[in-house]
Amino acid sequence: MNIVLLGPPGAGKGTQAKRLEDKFGLVQLSTGDMLRAAVASGSELGQKARSIMEAGQLVPDELVIALISQRLDQPDAQNGVILDGFPRTTAQAGALDRMLTDKGLKLDYVIEMKVDDALLIDRISGRYTCAKCGEGYHDRNKKPKVAGVCDRCGSREFKRRPDDNANTVRTRLDAYHRQTAPILPYYRAKGVLQSVDGMASIDAVTKALARILSGQPAVAPAAKAAKKAARPKRVAKAARRPAGGGKARRPAKAKPARKARPKAAQKRPAKPRGKKKL
Ligand SMILES: [Zn+2]
Repeated sequence: MNIVLLGPPGAGKGTQAKRLEDKFGLVQLSTGDMLRAAVASGSELGQKARSIMEAGQLVPDELVIALISQRLDQPDAQNGVILDGFPRTTAQAGALDRMLTDKGLKLDYVIEMKVDDALLIDRISGRYTCAKCGEGYHDRNKKPKVAGVCDRCGSREFKRRPDDNANTVRTRLDAYHRQTAPILPYYRAKGVLQSVDGMASIDAVTKALARILSGQPAVAPAAKAAKKAARPKRVAKAARRPAGGGKARRPAKAKPARKARPKAAQKRPAKPRGKKKL
């Protein structure tokens, strides 16, 4: 079983990938790690990659695909792999598909960990850790019981990762949305795209991912999922609906409001705008 896990930085993708590795005997492939390993090994591909990178150029897709291809042949990857950070373009997605097809393999699932940008920014930019024992805290969600004192070790020193600030997180999220926007429709059209609520608890996300990898739909509303459990085809249809095209940046609330607006606006167009002018 080969899967692609999509999710913005900070959504817990690494944690989830690790759990899926353990649970399903999969191997997580990060193209960055693979490139570094190839260069370090001095293999033919590695030498090629090194000279390209030393020249300050981007490693071409074919080379990355070749690396993934080689990696898939190794014994530990026989149960399948979790791709993380690749593909990022539809060209890469197409090349990946062709390579897998040549091997008699396929991409079984592309799973998007959906996040609420504003919530994720709050979650990440509010976090800090004890400098001594590493205990995690959050400005709002998890303050120390005694202000300024670590619950676990009593230390009064805390630290924040410099890139855990709202601006940096926003930039990372925007980059992620730009990258995934084109490949989501590609995979949706192929019928392999699924999504999970990336804002749920770590355990709940793992559960949702495990359900998908076990061939069960994960995104249908709980009540419907229970009713339709006996009819997997219909649930699969329902499961695809909330995945909506390229709307990841818009909060879910905006959708009904926008649809309702034209009618409401005709009846009393001045109400909200008029207030602003006053
Ligand atoms: Zn501590």
